[in-house]
Amino acid sequence: IGLKGCRKIRGSQIRHLLEAKDFFLFDCDGVIWHGEKAITGAPNVVNTLIKQGKGVFFVTNNSTRPRENYVHKFCRLGFTNVNQEQIFSSSYCSAIYLRDVAKVQGKVFVIGCEGIRNELREANVPYLEEVDEPDATIYNCALPTDVKAVLVGHDDQFTFLKLAKASCFLKDPDCLFLATDNDPWHPLKDGRILPGSGCLTAALEVATGRKATIIGKPSRFMFECISSQFTGVDPAQCLMVGDRLETDMLFGSNCGLETMLTLTGISQMEEAEEYSRSEQSNEQCFVPDYVVDTIADFLPAFEE
Ligand code: PLP
Ligand code: CA
Repeated sequence: IGLKGCRKIRGSQIRHLLEAKDFFLFDCDGVIWHGEKAITGAPNVVNTLIKQGKGVFFVTNNSTRPRENYVHKFCRLGFTNVNQEQIFSSSYCSAIYLRDVAKVQGKVFVIGCEGIRNELREANVPYLEEVDEPDATIYNCALPTDVKAVLVGHDDQFTFLKLAKASCFLKDPDCLFLATDNDPWHPLKDGRILPGSGCLTAALEVATGRKATIIGKPSRFMFECISSQFTGVDPAQCLMVGDRLETDMLFGSNCGLETMLTLTGISQMEEAEEYSRSEQSNEQCFVPDYVVDTIADFLPAFEE
C-alpha cells in the first residue's frame, strides 16, 4: 500500500486539479514570495487564476503589516490584480474576531506591531495606546482596569514590561487571551531564524497558566472569515496551498479543504512522508494531499 496523501503531481494532473477547483487559498511567505522577492512564476500563476475567474485568497500568519501595505507589496512584486478584500492576515482576522465574535467590551492590550493596531483601528476595536517611559517597571507603572483582552502577535519591540503587564491583565478571568498565530520561527537568509509570535505567546501562557485562543492558521477562523465574506465558498471546491505542514496543511485539513504542499518554503517531502507514515488518525492531519516543487508548475496547465 502506498503512503496516504503526498501525491507528487505534474502536467495534466495539475491541470485537472486546477480545473476541478473554484477557490484557491495561498499562504504567502514560502509560496508566492520569499520576503521581498516573488517566487519565480508566482505572479503569473496568481494573475492567471484571477483572470480565469477563480476565487483567489491569501491567508498569512504575518501580523506585522496592515492589509493596505500588502496590497502595495502585491503590486510591487508583480501581482497586479490583488485587492484588499482577498487578503486574510492574522491581524485582520484578529480584529474581526474581537469585533464580531468576542464583541469585547473594553480595551485590547496589544503585544505586536503596527499591523495589528492598524487593523484594530479600522475595525473600531479600542486598544490601549501607551508608550512606556524609559524608567517604567511593573512596580511603578499604572495598570488601567478597562482592559478586556490581550492580543499577542509578532513584536520586534517586545519587552519584559509588556510581558509583565499582559500577565497582570490576564489575572482577570474575564480578560480574553488571543494570539494572532502560534508560529515558532521563520527562516531568514543565511540560515538565521526569526523567532515567531508562538514564543511570545508561550511566555505568557507560562506566566498565567492560561492557553491563548489562536486566530491564524491552523485554526479554522480564517476560513470562517472568508466564507462569511464571499458566497459559495464550499470547502470541497477549495485548494489550500502552503509551505508549512504544521500550519498550512493542518489548517486545510481542519477546514475540510484539499491541501497542496509546495517545496519552495519550509517543509520538505521527507517530513511530509514521515507524517504520512506515523499519523494514526485523520484528527490532526499534517499530510498534504498533493505536492509540487513550486506553484510555477501550474503554468503549463494554463497553456492550450
Ligand atoms: N509572521 C512573521 C513575523 C513572518 O515574518 C512570517 C514570514 O515571513 C510569517 C508570520 C509567516 O507568514 P506566512 O503565513 O505568509 O507564511
Ligand atoms: Ca508560509
